[in-house]
Amino acid sequence: MNPATLTELISYSRRHNTGIGMFNIVNLEFAQGIFDASQETGLPVMFGIPERFTQFYSIDCMAGVCKKMIEGAKAPAAIHLDHGKSFEGVMAALRAGFSSVMFDGSSLEYEENVKQTAEIVKIARAFGVSVEGELGYVGRVGTDEPGPESFTRPDQAVDFVRRTGVDALAIAIGNQHGQYKGVPKLDFERLKAIREKVDCGLVLHGGSGIANEDFVETIRCGINKINIYTAMDVAVKDFTRKSFENYGSYLDCFAKGTYPGPLGRY
Ligand SMILES: [Zn+2]
Repeated sequence: MNPATLTELISYSRRHNTGIGMFNIVNLEFAQGIFDASQETGLPVMFGIPERFTQFYSIDCMAGVCKKMIEGAKAPAAIHLDHGKSFEGVMAALRAGFSSVMFDGSSLEYEENVKQTAEIVKIARAFGVSVEGELGYVGRVGTDEPGPESFTRPDQAVDFVRRTGVDALAIAIGNQHGQYKGVPKLDFERLKAIREKVDCGLVLHGGSGIANEDFVETIRCGINKINIYTAMDVAVKDFTRKSFENYGSYLDCFAKGTYPGPLGRY
């Protein structure tokens, strides 16, 4: 199987009334876990590679790992650049064979976000790659918490989607990156208003910590893709700390912490 585009997965989410999970990859173990979960459930998945993580590994090598896994996948899977912030970062992803890229111009002034995102869409189209943009500002718990004034405005979303041609739009409706203090309160009315006005896919960043019933409600109200990272980070950190206390070698920590998976590798 070849990597699926974000557009194909959005179409899947509409046909099946479901959301597509995008999970960010720190290292090979993350990629394997994400792939195994998709194989076991038979559900589509998106391998997420944030531009800022590519300082830790070669973007070409990690894309190669994902491509190899997808070759044998039972369900469609995409290789997605998460939070592409620079032109060069997006171009590196396109060259590496990603099937989907996010260009995050949400910290730019509105007209500049439109201009740069439209430029990325034009180039990505030539590669047959889907593009996700961001409008409104999601922020991060504890360090960069914007208020409701940074939530996505439905009328502006219409203008943004029309002028950029994005295939999907990341929106801010009370969701944030990082670990929430308590359960976040999402603005479902705003989500519904955006859904009524734009046709493209809608994306919810900051999925870790959102209540299960709220996941269902966001999908019912029009979200097609949900991003997860922090929940995996917390789980791996907790497991690693305990493993280092209990096992004698790194190999033991790794081997005992690695779910055998459907392939029964270990
Ligand atoms: Zn994000």
